[in-house]
Amino acid sequence: MNIEAFILEHEKSIRMVFFFGILAIMAIWEIISPRRALTVSKPLRWINNIALVFLNSILLRLIFPLAAVGMTLFVGQQNWGVLNYFELPSVLEFIIAILVMDLVIYLQHVMVHALPMLWRLHRVHHADLDFDVTTGSRFHPLEILLSMLIKFTTIIVLGPTVVAVVVFEILLNLTSMFNHSNVYIHPTIDKWLRLIVVTPDMHRVHHSIEDDETNSNFGFNLPWWDRLFATYKPQPRKGHTGMTIGINKFRDASETSWLPAMLTLPFKGRMSGYVLNRRQWGTPDDENK
Ligand SMILES: [Zn+2]
Ligand SMILES: [Zn+2]
Repeated sequence: MNIEAFILEHEKSIRMVFFFGILAIMAIWEIISPRRALTVSKPLRWINNIALVFLNSILLRLIFPLAAVGMTLFVGQQNWGVLNYFELPSVLEFIIAILVMDLVIYLQHVMVHALPMLWRLHRVHHADLDFDVTTGSRFHPLEILLSMLIKFTTIIVLGPTVVAVVVFEILLNLTSMFNHSNVYIHPTIDKWLRLIVVTPDMHRVHHSIEDDETNSNFGFNLPWWDRLFATYKPQPRKGHTGMTIGINKFRDASETSWLPAMLTLPFKGRMSGYVLNRRQWGTPDDENK
């Protein structure tokens, strides 16, 4: 049996094994060696964050039953997509597909911070008052649907293989859960690790309450895009234990941690003027000032 047939046959179980496997590993690591003390009840956050994950996967199955794999097979049959126009070696095609899909995720992440309407959806991810493995999968259903539409468009234009799409989706799931974890990694190891993957210390900066820190480190998987597009901030000004996680406006667990509150969060308050370059708390040596 070739690898594509194997993936198609066992796709759901492969995803489940990776999801629950990494969740268990990171959850144990967070207990053994936490980076920060949590501020909100862990059972409350976990039950609600995981409930949101289940709600999202049910919604996705209902609205897009064929999902990204179905779209990839369809695009392949139609011979659409840039990669289908070239006879590239399959390894090269795979690497290009992974890189392009990751770049699209990075750009999408910048976009949902830059456009006030989309920031309203994305702030459900940022409103979590603590930062741990469950934060990594906490997204509003409308943002999940938007992500799926962007993914479909990418697949149509790019024409990747099923193997590349499934590997990328699993990889993104794993790295997102890893880089949101509340785990301590020695600074020297972190320094080397973040050359190839986004580490928890790197992504935690992005969950800071400070606007200029939130508007940096957009990468979810590969750390290179932030360096290339100059959105990289190595550490939070107040340090990892001194920094505040979340959004200024939403500091109460009743409006950030319960599932109904998360679902209605995008519709709360006046439309803010929140845009990417409004750096209110930049330091004097900030080169972007
Ligand atoms: Zn973000
Ligand atoms: Zn995040």
